[in-house]
Amino acid sequence: MPHVVTQSCCNDASCVHACPVNCIHPTPDEPDFATAEMLYIDPVACVDCGACVTACPVEAIRPHTRLDETQLPFLEINADFYKDGRRRRTILAPHEKPLEVTVREPLRVAIVGSGPSAMYAADEILTIPGARVDVYERLTTPYGLARMGVAPDHAKTRQVTEVFDRISREDGFHLHLGVAVGDRVTHADLLRDHHAVVYATGASSDRRLDVPGASGVATATEFVAWYNGHPDHAHHRFDLSHRRAVVVGNGNVALDVARILTTPPDALLGTTISRAALDVLRTSAIEEVVVVGRRGPAHSAFTLAELVGLGSAVDVVVPPGDLVGLDDASPKHRTIRALGHEPTAGKRVILRYLLSPAEITGTGVTFTRNDLRGEEAVPTGETEHLEAGLVLSSIGYRARPLPDLPFDERRAIVPNDKGRVVDPCTGAAVPGVYVTGWIKRGPTGFIGTNKTCARETVRQLVADHNAGRLPARAAMAHPA
Ligand SMILES: Cc1cc2nc3c(=O)[nH]c(=O)nc-3n(C[C@H](O)[C@H](O)[C@H](O)COP(=O)(O)OP(=O)(O)OC[C@H]3O[C@@H](n4cnc5c(N)ncnc54)[C@H](O)[C@@H]3O)c2cc1C
Ligand code: SF4
Ligand code: SF4
Repeated sequence: MPHVVTQSCCNDASCVHACPVNCIHPTPDEPDFATAEMLYIDPVACVDCGACVTACPVEAIRPHTRLDETQLPFLEINADFYKDGRRRRTILAPHEKPLEVTVREPLRVAIVGSGPSAMYAADEILTIPGARVDVYERLTTPYGLARMGVAPDHAKTRQVTEVFDRISREDGFHLHLGVAVGDRVTHADLLRDHHAVVYATGASSDRRLDVPGASGVATATEFVAWYNGHPDHAHHRFDLSHRRAVVVGNGNVALDVARILTTPPDALLGTTISRAALDVLRTSAIEEVVVVGRRGPAHSAFTLAELVGLGSAVDVVVPPGDLVGLDDASPKHRTIRALGHEPTAGKRVILRYLLSPAEITGTGVTFTRNDLRGEEAVPTGETEHLEAGLVLSSIGYRARPLPDLPFDERRAIVPNDKGRVVDPCTGAAVPGVYVTGWIKRGPTGFIGTNKTCARETVRQLVADHNAGRLPARAAMAHPA
């Protein structure tokens, strides 16, 4: 009777280290960990000891006998992962050696931002005896998108903030809320007082649609921030007076937005949703949210777990004409194919494919239809207009440049080598400056992905500290 990983998995791999028989994969040392949508338990190898249940911070793991109806699909999703016959290690690679500091002076690090990547970096640094971490957060509440991004009805996922609460109680941890670095406190201030500065500022902006009429279009980023009570976004007004909304882009954020727009407001009452947003949602006339992708269903950017979660909350429909290019060997493709085909009487989410926005007008969005040639979407010349009141673009987050740091405009990250910030002209490391999380690798991955990411950065930082490569340390040791 195996245990099963379910929807709230955030890929932090805590269960991997708890499992006595190494039957949870991919493990962080396996190549497919970086792209995995979640982790999966091998039903044949699991000995049902339950150790992973206690290790999981978001209650994602359950014995298969205790799955509720909405979680049943995960039995097959976990088992399917092992059907490719790939050999997986039965013994977990040994833990990396604990961090060791070989210089006497206690390490002092500033971290800018308090999202998941900042908190995991702080946790890692504080394994070093005597270390001190100052975390600077521009908002008056900590934990970044774990609080201001994760959907309010994803209560289990939001429990990860309890892990961050535990980290913030560790000796040597100091949180400075309401301090925007680059404003009241500068990079130079931080470098003067610390051996190193780790930027964990995330990706707070978004990619914009580049079609006529798009300049006034709201983004999913703004809508998410609004319903989560982000102070920068409380003023937004969204047109909920029409029966249809259109979301351009089909990643997990698009599905979050579609679910919040179609969930009965009373069902959101017990969640962390902003009261002001809930009051506005009570007046909504929206019955249908159309989530649109440029390519075919095989290129859906959402994860299977998120689709299963959406399907258990609201009717999800896909027109049969859009079901092209699916491969039934893939559990995600099978799940898309099995969705309903006819709009239902109640509120619904419609997944549409092979449509590229051409123009946003006062009445909705005009799309050009595409054909799929291999991996590419090729315009057919035909158009389709979807009437809608609310149009949201959801085509990806994007980091903003930071004062005093280099920035790669194309990738929208701070150029770095495994977390060491590098000068883009010379490729040389900028002494004492590091990045972690979305500002380091771009807006991909889950909350737990930032744990592995932060560990990599902190290992570089400590290596530099031990090698005497941190300028602030030299300044502090030999004050002028
Ligand atoms: C809408 C949405 C929903 C998501 N849902 C899930 C989910 O259900 N499950 C999951 O596993 N993952 C989810 N994710 C992904 C997850 O939230 C990210 O992987 C993670 O938050 C990235 O962490 P980060 O620390 O890099 O950035 P962030 O979480 O964005 O944190 C950056 C922090 O830096 C602060 N900051 C920025 N600039 C400054 C400055 N100059 N001075 C001081 N502070 C500053 C910001 O205020 C913020 O608090 C979601 C992401 C989004 C966008
Ligand atoms: S129940 Fe035990 S054996 Fe099964 S996955 Fe969890 S830790 Fe591993
Ligand atoms: S959230 Fe972490 S501990 Fe829980 S199942 Fe996913 S990887 Fe394992």
